Amino acid sequence: MSIIEVKNLCYTYGKGTPFEKTAVNDLSLSVDEGEVIGLIGHTGSGKSTFVQMLNGLIRPDSGQVLLNGRDIWSNPKEIRKIRFKVGMVFQYPEYQLFDETVYKDISFGPRNKGLSENEIDEVVRKSAKFVGLSDNLLQQSPFDLSGGEKRRAAIAGVISMDPDVLVLDEPTAGLDPLGRDVLLSQIMQYHKERKNTIFIVSHSMEDIAQIADRVMVMNKGRLEMIDTPKKVFSQIDRLEGMGLRVPQITKIMLSLKKRGFEFSDGILSVEQAFSEVVDLLKKEGKI
Ligand code: ADP
Repeated sequence: MSIIEVKNLCYTYGKGTPFEKTAVNDLSLSVDEGEVIGLIGHTGSGKSTFVQMLNGLIRPDSGQVLLNGRDIWSNPKEIRKIRFKVGMVFQYPEYQLFDETVYKDISFGPRNKGLSENEIDEVVRKSAKFVGLSDNLLQQSPFDLSGGEKRRAAIAGVISMDPDVLVLDEPTAGLDPLGRDVLLSQIMQYHKERKNTIFIVSHSMEDIAQIADRVMVMNKGRLEMIDTPKKVFSQIDRLEGMGLRVPQITKIMLSLKKRGFEFSDGILSVEQAFSEVVDLLKKEGKI
């Protein structure tokens, strides 16, 4: 069943001024409950504007966002409630942290939801654990945390509200490769248990290839493609024409395929590439 349906969404900044800029143009799509959608596109292609329309931070000029079949703007006075259902972690989580302690920050959402102190405590600890924040950090000021810990705290603050849809804007930007892998696998573990719907914006094609069920590609405000990672990343020329790249390993394996090696299309991981190379070498009696 589709949880989010977007119909002909349009948004223009600075309408009627010389700085007018159409950021999202006639975008429609439908997302099933539990899907992980990877969102890619060149800087300025409209990704942030689009995701901010999913939870009502930006009101579209025209078009609709339906959450479980209901237009999120059907009652503008209730738009804040949508933010409990569609949780958003911004690109710069430091802007999302504001309280004296990490604990208070994470408990802000559940407290606003009206949970009891005991329930709040349980939810805060569980959310912190999900993102790998140790208990001893909970009483510290969020401003004393490292960049990676701040991001974890911001994610914990959003998942503590138990949103049906989680939107992550560049969650791994600025992290080192190990930190990136760990955070991604924690997000995926959370997804496996909670089975919620996730939109993840990323410049890392490797990350997207690894976790997305479908990849949506935005270009100049429009939805250019939406399909499985395998199908999207097979279209190297089209993506490169939009200033995007494909995972390095996909590119290498496709160029080898073009030279006559029998590899599958759209290989997305080093592990898969390794296993195909080994199979080929075995077939040729070289190992
Ligand atoms: P992305 O997230 O893909 O980088 P954005 O949604 O941030 O894209 O931006 C889409 C377009 O809208 C860009 O041309 C950008 O310059 C413009 N834009 C974004 N935010 C604003 C704003 N607050 N005022 C005016 N133009 C904006």
